[in-house]
Amino acid sequence: MMSEKRKILVIGGGISGITAAVEAAEVGYEVILVEKEPYLGGRVARMHKYFPKMCPPTCGLEINFRRIRNNPRIQVHTMAEVTRISGEAGNFDVQIRLRPRYVNNGARIPDSLVDQVKSEMPDEFNLGMNKTKALYYPHPMAFPMLHVLEKDALSAEDRALLEKETPKGIIDFNMAVQEISEKVGAIVVATGWRPYDAQKIDNLGFGRCENVITNVMMERLVADSGPTQGKLKRMSDNEEIKKVAFVQCAGSRDENHLPYCSGVCCMGSLKQARYVREKLPDAHITIFYIDIRAISRHEKFYYDLLNDDHITFVKGKAAMITEDAVSRDAVVEVENTLSGKKMREPFDLVVLATGMVPNTAKTKIPMDSLRYDEYGFVKPWNGQKGVYAVGCALRPVDVARSVRQATGAAIKAIQCCKEV
Ligand SMILES: Cc1cc2nc3c(=O)[nH]c(=O)nc-3n(C[C@H](O)[C@H](O)[C@H](O)COP(=O)(O)OP(=O)(O)OC[C@H]3O[C@@H](n4cnc5c(N)ncnc54)[C@H](O)[C@@H]3O)c2cc1C
Repeated sequence: MMSEKRKILVIGGGISGITAAVEAAEVGYEVILVEKEPYLGGRVARMHKYFPKMCPPTCGLEINFRRIRNNPRIQVHTMAEVTRISGEAGNFDVQIRLRPRYVNNGARIPDSLVDQVKSEMPDEFNLGMNKTKALYYPHPMAFPMLHVLEKDALSAEDRALLEKETPKGIIDFNMAVQEISEKVGAIVVATGWRPYDAQKIDNLGFGRCENVITNVMMERLVADSGPTQGKLKRMSDNEEIKKVAFVQCAGSRDENHLPYCSGVCCMGSLKQARYVREKLPDAHITIFYIDIRAISRHEKFYYDLLNDDHITFVKGKAAMITEDAVSRDAVVEVENTLSGKKMREPFDLVVLATGMVPNTAKTKIPMDSLRYDEYGFVKPWNGQKGVYAVGCALRPVDVARSVRQATGAAIKAIQCCKEV
């Protein structure tokens, strides 16, 4: 029998949390994995491909989902949040709240019935760029692959249809919020990041210029499962794109927004420049940067693009982006700091490389003793023995670093459970 001290709680089911969970479970520890969304995978699930290998997210995630599926020691709670933590290392009491999915676990709703549902709502997975039905699969590779019913978005007509036609025992409109209590020995915090709100960066035109988008929107726009089924067109009029700009450090390394560097946005934009090269081979790309932070093994990725005659690198921080009233082009104003020349150039599409904000900046882990830095990242030495933060809960990092940190945290959590 596994003692309660050998249970580990992982908060957040992105790549960091999933890694910590499978590593701990595969050496015999019980793991409770709590994810607030209806699916696991976090931000990585929303990528089109990931650097440096340029493979689709299914590559890394599917293997991990299989490891979870095959391991009875991992208990996954989606649509769940931890509401209270008390106690100490080796002996934490945890309260978890489960939001109702209204669809019974494992039950399958016939496709013919889902097709008849007309109620729609913004598709959160695609950042609201399209709509999804109020009865939906979160995305085509969701794990768990279970329907979610957004009861409040359902019309009276659709509700009546589902009540009448759904085979008995599948949908439960009276499903309530559930509270569960657990005792665990150690906790891994893997709550990750969200993009900095580009609306706050007044000078860069997001929200005012239709052809200005963010890097996270770009990931969805080029994805086959995205709002345009992977077709990259001008946002304003669906016309062909001939010129694309990437604006680096949009709000980052800026005292008025995010004073820190998010570390991965340069590689993010270099990767997205490759998407453009693949999708629109004739388009020209300009990358406006302060300095390109592609270090270590990522240097080759950068140098390959430096040699591409469809890509121009301009050293300079974009000062202003406005919309041309006639053409709807996004016009970028920037001073080239190498030549000293001021530029004013129109583009069909401008992608802002916005930085990463920890989710814990807004929603703290419900534990008084946990310490955060001034930006809301959990501190590495966070003041609470038995609690280990990893991945982007700790600082902005790429997937490879997230996985390494999560493996390390699994070991620390195991040691903590053994010691006490
Ligand atoms: C534009 C862009 C492109 C990128 N491309 C790449 C790339 O190609 N290659 C690469 O290596 N890296 C890339 N990255 C970085 C990559 O996104 C991160 O390394 C990765 O997401 C970190 O995973 P994580 O699990 O720490 O966080 P996340 O992916 O954010 O996962 C955190 C999870 O925790 C959940 N959660 C949050 N709060 C709670 C809570 N209170 N309770 C329960 N659950 C909670 C979230 O819903 C989420 O599922 C990119 C970043 C950006 C900005």
